[in-house]
Amino acid sequence: MAQKVEAAPFKGFAEADPDQANPWKIAQRQFDIAADALGLDPNMARVLRECKRQLIVTFPVLMDDHTIQMFTGFRVHHNVDRGPAKGGIRYHPGVTIDEVKALAMWMTWKCAVVGIPYGGAKGGVIVDPKRLSRNELENLTRRYTSEISILIGPDRDIPAPDVNTNAQIMAWMMDTISMHAGHSVPAVVTGKPLGIGGSEGRPEATGRGCMLTTIAALKHLGIRPEDATVAVQGVGNVGYTTAKLLAQAGCKVIAVSDSNGACYNEDGIELDEVVREKELTGRLRQKICKFISNEELLELPVTVLVPAALENQIHAGNAHRIKAKVICEGANGPTTPEADEILHKKGIFVIPDILANAGGVTTSYFEWVQDRQGYFWKEAVVNEQLESILVDAFEAVVHYAESHGVNNRIAAYMLAIDRVAFTIKQRGIYA
Ligand code: NAD
Repeated sequence: MAQKVEAAPFKGFAEADPDQANPWKIAQRQFDIAADALGLDPNMARVLRECKRQLIVTFPVLMDDHTIQMFTGFRVHHNVDRGPAKGGIRYHPGVTIDEVKALAMWMTWKCAVVGIPYGGAKGGVIVDPKRLSRNELENLTRRYTSEISILIGPDRDIPAPDVNTNAQIMAWMMDTISMHAGHSVPAVVTGKPLGIGGSEGRPEATGRGCMLTTIAALKHLGIRPEDATVAVQGVGNVGYTTAKLLAQAGCKVIAVSDSNGACYNEDGIELDEVVREKELTGRLRQKICKFISNEELLELPVTVLVPAALENQIHAGNAHRIKAKVICEGANGPTTPEADEILHKKGIFVIPDILANAGGVTTSYFEWVQDRQGYFWKEAVVNEQLESILVDAFEAVVHYAESHGVNNRIAAYMLAIDRVAFTIKQRGIYA
C-alpha cells in the first residue's frame, strides 16, 4: 500500500485568498461574464447560475483490518435540459462540494460547446486512494455507487473517470449497478474496459482532443508543429497522452511534471523513458534531465503550455510571468478569471478547458451510443468522428471570439450558454 499523498489542489494560492480560489465562485464569475456579454435574460441567468441537484453521502467501508471507516462523497447535477447528466468521478483528499458543483457546471458548457446531447454532472469522494488497498478501493467504489444509484442510470446520469479514477473503477461501478438490476447495464458509466462495453479510443480521447485543438491553434497562428516546444503540467491520463500525441505530430516536448515536480530538458525529453522511471522509482527521471518545480514549468519559454493537473494553477500571482504562446487547458479550471484577463492582454492564445479537454466526454458519448446499440465501432471510426466534432467546435469558438471581440473562453461560454438557454426556452421553465 503506497503512502504518497498528492499535493492538495489549492495549496498556497488558496491560503492567500480562499474565496478567490473557490472553484464554484470562479465558475459563477465566468458564467456571469459570458451571460452579460450575451445579454442573457436575467430569469434564464438565475436558473443557469445554480446547480439543479446536490447529493451528499456519508457511507461505511469495510477496511482490511476489519474496521469500518466512514467516507463522504458527492454527486451533483448542474443541468439536464439537453439530455442525461454526464460527468466524471474524482477521488481526492481535497474534494469539496464547491469543487464538484463547479466541475458539474463546466460539464454542462463542455457538452454544449461540442454539441453532444448531455447535461452537466460531477461526483467525488474525499479520499486519498493511494492509502487504500485494492480491496478497500473496490469496497469504497461499490458502496459509493450504491449510495448515488438513486441518481445514476443510462437515461439519467452517466459517470466517467476523472482524477484518480480509471477503467477498473468504472468496471466496479457498472457491476454494482448491474448486480442490483439483475442484468448487465453497460451504458450506466463510460470509460469502461473494452471487454465490458468500453469504446476503442476512449482511454486516449481527452489527450487526443488536447492534441487536435493544439494543432488547430498552431495552424491558426501560422506555427508549424516542428517549430513548437511543449511543457505539460501533470503527466497523468490526459497529460501523458497529450504529450505523446503532440510529440508524434512533430512538436518537441521539453518538460513534464507530476505532483513532486518537473523533469526538464531544453533539447527534448524521452517521454516513455521518463514515465518508465516513474513507474520504477516513483519519480519522473531521465539521464539528462533538470529537476524544476511545477511553478517553474508553468513559466518556461515554450510554444505550448498544457496544464493537465488540477484547478487554479495559473492565477493573478503568476499569469504575467507565463511565456507560452498557446495554453491548452487539459485540466478543468486551471486558470482563474483574473489570470485570464492578464493572459488575454499578453496576447496568449488560450484553448479553454471546456473545448480543449472535451475529447473525453465526446468519446464517452460515442461509448454510450455503442452500448445502447450493442454495436461497436473500430478505433479509426471513433478517432475520425472525434476529430470532426472537435475541429468544428474549435473553428466555431475562434470565429465567435473574433466576430464578437471577446477571448476564446468567453466565446466558448457564450456559445454554450446560448445553446442551453435555447433548449430551455423551447421546453419552457417549469416554475
Ligand atoms: P490523473 O490522476 O491521471 O493525472 C493527474 C496528474 O497530475 C498526475 O500526474 C499527478 O501526479 C499530477 N498532479 C497532481 N497534483 C499536482 C500538482 N499539484 N501539480 C502538478 N501535478 C500534479 O488525472 P487525469 O484524468 O489526467 O485528469 C487531469 C485533469 O484533466 C483534471 O483536471 C481532470 O478534471 C481533467 N480531465 C480529465 C479527463 C479524463 O478523461 N481523464 C477528461 C476531462 C478533463
